[in-house]
Amino acid sequence: MTVIVTGGARGIGLACTRQLLERGERVVVVDQDVAPLDRTLQEFRLTEGLDRLVAVSGDVADTSVLSEACELARGVDGVVACAGISRPGPTLTYPRGAWDAMIEINLSAVFETFRVALPVFTEGASFVAISSISGSQGFSGRAAYSATKAGVEGLVRSLAIEYAPRIRVNAVSPGYIMTDLVRQNLSRGVIDENEILDRTPMGRWGEASDIADAVEFLLSPKSSWITGSVLTVDGGWTALGLGGSDRAPRS
Ligand code: NDP
Repeated sequence: MTVIVTGGARGIGLACTRQLLERGERVVVVDQDVAPLDRTLQEFRLTEGLDRLVAVSGDVADTSVLSEACELARGVDGVVACAGISRPGPTLTYPRGAWDAMIEINLSAVFETFRVALPVFTEGASFVAISSISGSQGFSGRAAYSATKAGVEGLVRSLAIEYAPRIRVNAVSPGYIMTDLVRQNLSRGVIDENEILDRTPMGRWGEASDIADAVEFLLSPKSSWITGSVLTVDGGWTALGLGGSDRAPRS
């Protein structure tokens, strides 16, 4: 299987890249900076399989970069559209340029990744976009980010209908995962590590590999009757009603 992973050099995308290589798949990574990729994978002692890794450096908002990835893939069995940015800020003063960049990278690039890959998708291919719990839940200061992720969820539903049964299209909606993207928000004081932990029924932060596991399932034939779905992987975060104040007895 050949899988394109956008944003595959760091964070959640890197976990997907690693896991796919470990499973013996061929992976084409598209990321702004792919230079550290080989070194990182070697740190994971994943030297075997690096010959199945193709890296394309560039911006996912640039369709020529996506075309290059598709050419190098030579037939695409799966796509993980993971590249994304998060720039929280108050709505009143939120720069229009930041809104536009968010739409461009988090939403338009997902649409274009699908379109560019369309001619080279193999029969039964699977496209998985990475959404966020912000796509279905409200968060202060996240209007732009939430709009893009809600957009991604609408996009996968409609693409799934348009391209069934040839291509399956789904999304994974992660809760809080400790990656560079989240570390930046922690250091800016936008989110609080312990508050999130307290509010997570499963009692721990998510790991990038938790999301990679869900992605792997949606790429595999084990999910062959699943399309147009959003799979929430958040340790129970969105299912919780009363938040930290819920102290009902547990058996
Ligand atoms: P990271 O910032 O750790 O990794 C994202 C990767 O995507 C980086 O390598 C980044 O490159 C790359 N990237 C960003 N913009 C572009 C671009 N325009 N072109 C090419 N590559 C780009 O983020 P995460 O792993 O945390 O997030 C991955 C996805 O998961 C995102 O879509 C995010 O919205 C989503 N998500 C994350 C959650 C979390 O808690 N971490 C929760 C819910 C959703 P560089 O760093 O060089 O910019």
